[in-house]
Amino acid sequence: MGYSFILLAGGESSRFKSVLPKPYNRIAGKTLIEMSIDKIKQFKQFKQLVIVYNKKHIKYLKKIKIKNIVYISGGKTREQSTYNALNYLQRQKGIKKVLIHDAARPNFSINLIKNILIESKKNNVVIPILKLQDALKKKISNKFVNIKRNNFILTQTPQCFNLKEIFNLHKNNKNTYVDDDLSLVENNNKTKIINGEKKNFKITNTEDFELLKNTHRSNLKIGIGFDVHRLVRDRKLFLGGVRIPSSLGTLGHSDGDPVLHAIIDAILGACQMGDIGERFSDRSKRFKDISSTNLIKEIINQIKNKNYELNNLDINIITQTPKIKNYKNKIIKNISKLCEMSVKDINIKAKTTEKLGVIGNEKAIASEVIVSIIKYD
Ligand code: ZN
Repeated sequence: MGYSFILLAGGESSRFKSVLPKPYNRIAGKTLIEMSIDKIKQFKQFKQLVIVYNKKHIKYLKKIKIKNIVYISGGKTREQSTYNALNYLQRQKGIKKVLIHDAARPNFSINLIKNILIESKKNNVVIPILKLQDALKKKISNKFVNIKRNNFILTQTPQCFNLKEIFNLHKNNKNTYVDDDLSLVENNNKTKIINGEKKNFKITNTEDFELLKNTHRSNLKIGIGFDVHRLVRDRKLFLGGVRIPSSLGTLGHSDGDPVLHAIIDAILGACQMGDIGERFSDRSKRFKDISSTNLIKEIINQIKNKNYELNNLDINIITQTPKIKNYKNKIIKNISKLCEMSVKDINIKAKTTEKLGVIGNEKAIASEVIVSIIKYD
């Protein structure tokens, strides 16, 4: 059976106070639109994916690169937007079912889609719902009258329909304002309700967006990194990708930046991706004298593709010489650029070893790092 998916991103986002329209805000480098589409793309059943956009947002839409998507311009209302998409889909061959979803709900699970697809085989309409947990009251003049909450449900999206049926319902509905597509279905004998998801809440304002970020905090990963390099004459010194004036520099196969190497190892550790030596072998000519800036950029790209986002970095730089106090801010700024994170989430502590050991004797420089990373799904 051919399925299609409509993502409604045509709204005005008027309640969302942000420079960007709501669907184009990002978490871990991904817009809300991509968060939904990436999950849907995991299902082979969907023959057509449609994004309904707002013409005013076209410059933001152009920055998103998703393959095999049909873009349809939205109307003034949710109903018109949905109708435009349905009108396109009903002319396509082999599509029997459609899931209609609001881009403002990017946090549904893969399991929810699985359940909808299973139930849609036996039912005309499938709707995820939540039951009310709070007490429900109606204010009648100066009295709050209790209403039995068991008689009420909250409907979420995606909602699944037979394409022809929902298209005709929208076509014949010229005036009625509806909050969702289920509202148009008059006879619910063949409507299957399934358990919705609390985490699939609708993002209406910036507070909801923060909540969306927080729902992923439980996916927090911690990584630790350590690196030490010999200090020698006639080599340059790079710390955190910043050239530091010094009569001594670090010996290494690459540029020998212990700070970036420790950060890379910490990141790889948090993401369970091995270690820097496995990734960038010191026997490979490719990495001879390479700037560690290039190495960390490659790692950041790799983890971004796996939906990881750096949360915070705590860095110790352990050296007797040179003194790096005056370079701390510059290093933090550079790391924030390389790691695509805010400067306020990076901390550097400059330490000495009180003239003890190889570091105290100015023979080596070391760095240790702890990173926390959030995995978004
Ligand atoms: Zn190193």
